[in-house]
Amino acid sequence: MWLSRQPGPRNWLCQAAGAAPPRGAATRAAAERGGPMSELHKFIFDGLPVRGMLVRLTGSWQEILKRRQAAGGYPAEVTNLLGEMTAAGALMQSNIKFNGALILQIFGDGPVKLAVAEVQPDLSLRATATVTGTVDPGSSLSQLVNVNNQGRCAITLDPKDKLPGQQAYQGVVPLYGDQREKIENLAEVLEHYMLQSEQLDTKLILAADGSVAAGLLIQRLPVKGQGNLEGQIDRDANEDQIGVNEDYKRIAMLAGTLKREELLTLDADTILRRLFWEEQVSRFEPVVPSFACNCSRERVGGMLRSLGTAEIESIISERGKVAVGCEFCGAQYEFDPVDAAQLFASQTNQPPPSSTVQ
Ligand SMILES: [Zn+2]
Repeated sequence: MWLSRQPGPRNWLCQAAGAAPPRGAATRAAAERGGPMSELHKFIFDGLPVRGMLVRLTGSWQEILKRRQAAGGYPAEVTNLLGEMTAAGALMQSNIKFNGALILQIFGDGPVKLAVAEVQPDLSLRATATVTGTVDPGSSLSQLVNVNNQGRCAITLDPKDKLPGQQAYQGVVPLYGDQREKIENLAEVLEHYMLQSEQLDTKLILAADGSVAAGLLIQRLPVKGQGNLEGQIDRDANEDQIGVNEDYKRIAMLAGTLKREELLTLDADTILRRLFWEEQVSRFEPVVPSFACNCSRERVGGMLRSLGTAEIESIISERGKVAVGCEFCGAQYEFDPVDAAQLFASQTNQPPPSSTVQ
């Protein structure tokens, strides 16, 4: 989970109150490149069983949207939802120690049929949405994906090097609350998920627009004894701690005062100083999320093979070739009759088909 070590020589330390904003490596690199750089900051509250993370996706998020421009782009409401999902995916991936992709999906029953954000362990990320209906300006979360309370949010952990027979782990949560009331805030949906799956109180704040996708996560640490931040989790004892830790409640309440506009426009130093100026915050060197798509001709070939010879031959006879576009990055893959024949001629030594290439 989370941090495997205490702040060490490679990390920089900052007392939140009154400290000058330290210029980390990522900040310098951004200045050198003259462009915006995405950043994910981790921090802990000294001596308290509470940790936090703040992510600001700028260049990487804009690249995701740019890849969609050729297909007409997204309505603003869908952009905002997909951005919140992408920021949340980066936070959730960073929050677990897992060697594989974290895939956040919403299967909608409204004009947005599917929205996907996928984040790898190195925080390379990609996202896409399928919009089939008309999105009215100002549409809420439920108007986008949960019109009839049939929308679902799935969180999948897909191991990188799967053992034979090993399955991806998937958790599914509804987009409504205990009384089947629709939830209009994605962060709230994911807070429920994390409380269920990790048995840890979690406060999540998300915001996105066409330039920035950002999020703040505050979580109670799984502690066995006071100050033992890295001890084995005693699950029963931990469950007893849900909703009762005063330090967590205070810090989560402070986090809850963060406004959407502040999250979108202020840098990490300013946000953390404004929110937690009375707390002792230790920060870690920021990491840099980036856009990357792992689609490939081999993966697309594997997906076509899984459709079977008859299906592929039927497409070839109709159109002369098979053309597949990647929904995430816009890459186009074409298979002419010779390529297609080769797909089925050499079925050994091929990578397994990817289910994520549409
Ligand atoms: Zn791609």
